[in-house]
Amino acid sequence: MQSISPETIFRGNHAWQKSLPHITKITKSPLILGRGIHTNNLRNKIFNDLKSQNLKVYSANLQFDCCYEDISRIKSSILKNNNDCVIAAGGGKVLDSGKYIAESLNIHCITVPLSASTCAGWTALSNIYTKDGQFIKDVALRSCPKILVYDHKFIQTAPSRTLASGIADALAKWYESSITSSTINDGLVQQAIQISRVLRDQLLIDGGKAFKGHFENNPSWRNTVEACGLTAGLVGGIGGEKCRTAAAHAIHNAITQIITPNKFLHGELVGVGLLLQLRLEEMKNNNKLADQSIKQLLVLMKELNLPTTIAQLGINVFENNNLEKIAEFTCRDNSEIHFLPFEIDKRDIVELISNFEKQKIKI
Ligand SMILES: [Zn+2]
Repeated sequence: MQSISPETIFRGNHAWQKSLPHITKITKSPLILGRGIHTNNLRNKIFNDLKSQNLKVYSANLQFDCCYEDISRIKSSILKNNNDCVIAAGGGKVLDSGKYIAESLNIHCITVPLSASTCAGWTALSNIYTKDGQFIKDVALRSCPKILVYDHKFIQTAPSRTLASGIADALAKWYESSITSSTINDGLVQQAIQISRVLRDQLLIDGGKAFKGHFENNPSWRNTVEACGLTAGLVGGIGGEKCRTAAAHAIHNAITQIITPNKFLHGELVGVGLLLQLRLEEMKNNNKLADQSIKQLLVLMKELNLPTTIAQLGINVFENNNLEKIAEFTCRDNSEIHFLPFEIDKRDIVELISNFEKQKIKI
């Protein structure tokens, strides 16, 4: 069974307003799930709009992350309130928690992304972390959300850093799926990989303009936020679990194991992971195009103020055994790194990262 997309999608300016008559058909008592204080105003608007439709509306916030502690606390309050739907309004962690909770209670999930930082509003997947933000695992869900509301007016309110992060995460789709899945003899997977290539090209063309330009009447901004929040999800939906992530996400997952005072966004870590993946392809697979890809990506990443080394993520890999910890987690048994078409072990990762961080390899 494969769930390709949300059942209904509302997109563009005022998508939220347009979705209201549909939302009231599927829920009488929703719980609005959120997290950060900077999205409070939007969630209050969502709350009041639903209340004025005579729904019995509740709200709850994640305290930490998409973690089992928050998940079980929110599940109990849903059972107590008798909510019939979760409306997850926020970034990737909120959307992932909402989808996971709704599925485990067999109620509908409506996703309302409040930034373009990920495609979590679309996918049938939740990433689970510890409450300190360390990646544990990803969980495949039975279906994509019932309704996805991608309101551009909401997305416009998000900090530009979230857009940069979304661009890095969406770019990774092509580099990861093309290396892990290009030998799979399945038309849908091949077509998904081709969509991810077009997605990458569009981000290389429009990403910089979207980041700098103003939202209103800026087609680059519209194309870019939809590429990050919608098309990236579609690639995952069509490609299914065979259209896999690879080293960029495996390295992201490993970097989250090092707890740092400053939190970085998912795509910010994936972007660094992507540069490392390309160096790994050059080192282990003799990929002559990797260096060109790195140079091309670096131009855009610098324009977007994205970190390009692990040091810029606030981690010194040469302290506290950090390098060994990252290498260990990257190469653990069920890591995505093993979807690469060549063998990788811990020594390769230690060599790769130490050269990369020492800038022996020029980036
Ligand atoms: Zn990702």
